[in-house]
Amino acid sequence: MLESLSLRCGACGHTEPLDSLAWRCAKCHGVLDLDGFAAAPPSLAGLAGRGTSLWRYREALPIAEPADITMGEGMTPLVGAPGRPGVTLKVDHLMPTGSFKDRGAVMLVALAARLGVARLMADSSGNAGTAVAAYAARAGIACDVYVPADTSAGKVGQLRAYGATVHQIPGSREDTARAAALAAGEPGVFYASHVYHPFFVHGTKTYVYEVWEQLGGRLPDTLVLPVGNGTLVLGAHLACAELLEAGYIERFPRIVAVQAAGCAPLAAAFAGGSPVPANIATQGTVAEGIAIARPARGAQILAAVRATGGAVVTVTDEQVRAAHAALARSGLYVEPTSAVCWAAIEAGEVEPQGTVVAPLCGSGLKSKPPVM
Ligand SMILES: [Zn+2]
Repeated sequence: MLESLSLRCGACGHTEPLDSLAWRCAKCHGVLDLDGFAAAPPSLAGLAGRGTSLWRYREALPIAEPADITMGEGMTPLVGAPGRPGVTLKVDHLMPTGSFKDRGAVMLVALAARLGVARLMADSSGNAGTAVAAYAARAGIACDVYVPADTSAGKVGQLRAYGATVHQIPGSREDTARAAALAAGEPGVFYASHVYHPFFVHGTKTYVYEVWEQLGGRLPDTLVLPVGNGTLVLGAHLACAELLEAGYIERFPRIVAVQAAGCAPLAAAFAGGSPVPANIATQGTVAEGIAIARPARGAQILAAVRATGGAVVTVTDEQVRAAHAALARSGLYVEPTSAVCWAAIEAGEVEPQGTVVAPLCGSGLKSKPPVM
C-alpha cells in the first residue's frame, strides 16, 4: 500500500515520494499532506471483536499494523465530567506514554520501521517527543529529541529512560524548532515531526473514530479540543470528513479549539477573520504544551474550524489553574495544558446546548509541580 502514497504540498502542488524522507516542500517550504490514500472506515458492526489498539480502524489507516511496535494505544475510556451532565471527557492521558501523542507517534515509527531508517528525530515541548522516543525504543530505532531547555525534568527523564539522545535548546519553542529543522536537513534522517508529517494526523484522527464508536455510532454536537500545533484539531476534522463520506454521520460536529490567552495566534486570526495565524509575541503561559506562536499548519487549522461552524477561543492562566485544580479534586490528575478545554467549558466559552466531548490529553505525573 505504501508504494501508492506520496507527499503533496498544499500550497504549490509539488509532490515527493513517501520514502523521500522530505518533511516540508522542497520548492516553497509549505506543509506536505498525504496523497493517494482514501480511508474506508469500517462499519460499527465490523468492529466487533477486534483488538483495542488503534488498528481496529485499519481500513482507515495508511499503514498496516506493526505487530511488534504497538503497545495497545487507543480506546481510552469516556468518563462523565464533574457536575456537567452534557459533557463527557475522554481520558487520553491513559496512553502508554501518558499523552494522546501516542496516536500519531506509533504511525510515524511504524512508517520509519517500514522504510528501514536507522535513526529518527523529533522536536517537542515534551509529550510528542516522549511518545516518539518510546515507540522508537520499541522498534529498536535510534532517536534524537530536541526540547526547549526549560522542559520539565519529568519529561526529560522519561526521554532519557527510553534511550533517546536529548538536545536541550536554550530560548523559545521556536528556537527548538529551528535547531530541529537544521538537523532534519541532514541526509538519511527521518524527521518524525508531529507538526509536519501527515502520518501523525492519520494517527490522531483515531480519537474521533473512538468517540464515534464509543457513543454507538454517532458524534457529539461539539468537540472541544486544545490547539497549539493543531494535530488533534486536524485529526478530528479529517476523521469527521471520512465518517461523513462513508455515510456514518450526517453532519460535522462543531469544533471549538482552545488556546491559552498568553499565546493565541489562531484565536486572534479567528476573531479578525484572517485565514492565516496572527503574528504575535508569546507572553508565556502555564499551558506549555500549546504555547505555539507560529503553527506551521495554522491556515489548515483555521479553515477546518471554520468549516465546522466552530470557533477558536482563549482561556487565561488563572482559568487554567482553576480548571486544573477542579479536575484534580474530581480525581483527574492531568497536566495544566490538558485543563484548557475544561477551563473553556467552565468559562462559558462553549455553547451550553447539546452534547460535548473534550479530551484530557496528558498525564499530570510528568509535568512541572502542581500550579494550584
Ligand atoms: Zn510547495
